[in-house]
Amino acid sequence: MPQHALSSACRFSRTAFFIILAVFVFPNAHAQNQPEPLAVRNVRGGIWQVQGGSGANTGFFVGKHEVLVIDAKMTGESALAMIAEIGKVTPNPVRRVLLTHSDRDHVNGLSGFPKGLTIIAHEETRRLMDGAFQEDALRSRLPDVTFSERLTLRVDSTELILLYFGPAHTCGDAVVYFPAEKVVFIGDLLFIGRDPLIHLAKNGSSFGWVRVLKSILELDADLFLSGHADPAGRVDLEAMIRSLEEKQAGVKALADQGRTLEEVKAAFGVEPGGRWMSLVEVIYRELSMKE
Ligand SMILES: [Zn+2]
Repeated sequence: MPQHALSSACRFSRTAFFIILAVFVFPNAHAQNQPEPLAVRNVRGGIWQVQGGSGANTGFFVGKHEVLVIDAKMTGESALAMIAEIGKVTPNPVRRVLLTHSDRDHVNGLSGFPKGLTIIAHEETRRLMDGAFQEDALRSRLPDVTFSERLTLRVDSTELILLYFGPAHTCGDAVVYFPAEKVVFIGDLLFIGRDPLIHLAKNGSSFGWVRVLKSILELDADLFLSGHADPAGRVDLEAMIRSLEEKQAGVKALADQGRTLEEVKAAFGVEPGGRWMSLVEVIYRELSMKE
């Protein structure tokens, strides 16, 4: 058999193999966007992370007598499933819920939590939730404790600090810092491998985001847990700062030449009609607002 015939036969069998694999092994791979099942893992000390389910990643801290949850998932159903998973780790009740920001994939699951918990968020996040929450099941779970710059909490002897460094993803992004464990929950302040989503309508800011990430890196911490990425290290935050700064400089250079928004978007290959405003557009609009 000539060489090229052999190689094309190999190619055929490889292709056939992957088709068979796709059809029989992953029959629903593209059928629907079912969320991944909940996966609970111990991160460090009493700190746990929950990935999967409906909505963003969440976390929880297990104390001697209580559990403190960080973010509430997107639906009451998914929150109940998360609470059931927490019950497999500890019999202690959830008493407090901290919210990193107001997006529905982080807060709408509050409807699945028992009433009477202490719900804690940045004051701007409470304001945004107050505007968005319509149903009673959510209105009855608006944050009852808010902070503006810094709030220190204790669970037994463990200290955790809620910090606010300014607008970035939204104007109410809380960072939850566990100093002894050197772990920080940063909500949606980290996107890996794609441009970050910035809510201009919630007064988010790409330039603010760079400042916020630099402030987070001033904390003595080496593990960063976020809503839509795997646990990350300092290098991941540094990479995001670099990529934001590069894009800001690129957009500014074109804007300074008098290019229109459409021209700048085209120059960056931004596809029209995305669900969210592209980072390029956010930066362009921020630059025009500054003038
Ligand atoms: Zn978000």
